[in-house]
Amino acid sequence: MPDNTDGGRIALNQLLEGNPVATIVIDAQHRVSHWNHACAVLTGVPAAEMIGRAEQWRAFYPAARPILADLVIDGALDAMVGQYYQGKFRRSALVEHGYEVEDFFPAFGKDGRWLYFTAAPIRNAAGEIIGAIETLQDVTERRRAEAALRDSEAYLAQIVDGSSVAMLVIDAAHRVTHWNRACEVTTGTLAKDVIGTQDQWKAFYASSRPIMADLVLDDANESTVDRLYHGRYRPSLLIRGGYEAEDFFPHFGDRGRWLFFTAAPLRNAAGEVIGAIETLQDVSERRRAEEALRDSEERYRSLSLTDSLTGLFNSRYLHERLPAEIERASRYGRPLSLLVLDCDNFKSINDRYGHLEGDKVLMSLAEVIGLCLRRSDSAFRYGGEEFVVLLPEAGEQASVALANRLREMFANQKVLTAAGEEICCTVSVGVSRHVPGDTESSLIRRADEACYSAKDQGRNCVVLAGLGV
Ligand code: GH3
Ligand code: MG
Ligand code: MG
Repeated sequence: MPDNTDGGRIALNQLLEGNPVATIVIDAQHRVSHWNHACAVLTGVPAAEMIGRAEQWRAFYPAARPILADLVIDGALDAMVGQYYQGKFRRSALVEHGYEVEDFFPAFGKDGRWLYFTAAPIRNAAGEIIGAIETLQDVTERRRAEAALRDSEAYLAQIVDGSSVAMLVIDAAHRVTHWNRACEVTTGTLAKDVIGTQDQWKAFYASSRPIMADLVLDDANESTVDRLYHGRYRPSLLIRGGYEAEDFFPHFGDRGRWLFFTAAPLRNAAGEVIGAIETLQDVSERRRAEEALRDSEERYRSLSLTDSLTGLFNSRYLHERLPAEIERASRYGRPLSLLVLDCDNFKSINDRYGHLEGDKVLMSLAEVIGLCLRRSDSAFRYGGEEFVVLLPEAGEQASVALANRLREMFANQKVLTAAGEEICCTVSVGVSRHVPGDTESSLIRRADEACYSAKDQGRNCVVLAGLGV
């Protein structure tokens, strides 16, 4: 038995001495029986100062107190361990009645060291505790690396959160890792509802699809980007693999919002894409201002081309359109006709009913003209009570027929005065057809002359101009 014990102790000694893990063994009386080389190096206390004594605390603490191994020998309970290592310990998952702790020792080394240490009871054959073994590992570098990582993550999170530009970040698995305050405001989706999920699309679209950051993460080719953003994107001029786009999001706000958004890949030190960042800017106000400007330009342009009384085009626009129509008719040999209409005895209508009532008659004529025209025809108020109608693709017969329909409809039209009287008015119409060599003025002049002939023929009739240029 003694031989065995001795032999066992030597073997144990050798095992412990050669072990790179700092190890302490104490007996049931708390006396140190083993303090290996790694432990001497770690604590700076040689084995000779410890072996045979129960002063192991000196290596770790400024005043006497149990170390973890001492607590284990005393049949440690969580409450007792907690008293000395509050919030820093847990029961060993491997050894019954064993504990593990991670704690900071400010007296070790220059700036103190973090140690991870475990203690477990040693039992005899009867199961009684006859000692305890404690192992210690210096985990300062890991702790510092973790702290540095936490710091840099917190720093990054502050940069992202503090930015007034809406930002979101996804990781390599397309999970949302950052969703800043500005992004909450822009999208109306809270960070707590989206971080850790792959639900980023829900903030933007009604059904599941990649957002720009997802495409950038997958290094999507341009045709995929184009399919989803329909020509409203371009590759980033600043960032390799990045894109920017402007699109309308009908579900944002009460009228939808225009967003300008960029997405760029995030790479690790090896240059591999490990995430993507997307920024969003609400450009609705600029878009609305641009639209308003376009509308007002259009309105201004149309105002400058239309006659305010009748809503027909004005003579300025006739002079803009007619050369183009003549050019087209000449080039392709297509028919083109022109009507000049002049109200009959309009002076007497004005004289009898007043100018305002006369205006109403002009409006009703414009209405009749509007009803008779085909889509490609256009009507102009040429002068006071004279109108011109341009009829592309209409030959003589069709034009004369249309002129007669118009004349007849107007003759049957009754305009009611404010006093309840009915005004009847008629028009005389001259028709000219485009012939090779015609100019703007020759085409109008012939129709004008035909209109005079119509007056001569008793008014309320249509005259086709002769072909003489
Ligand atoms: P004719 O059948 O020969 O054309 O007789 P007319 O009385 O119509 O003679 P003319 O065409 O020379 O005269 C046109 C009149 O139309 C003169 C002018 O007072 C009137 N007039 C021109 N512009 C307007 C307008 O904007 N409103 C009103 N109410 N009258 C106008
Ligand atoms: Mg006239
Ligand atoms: Mg007249």
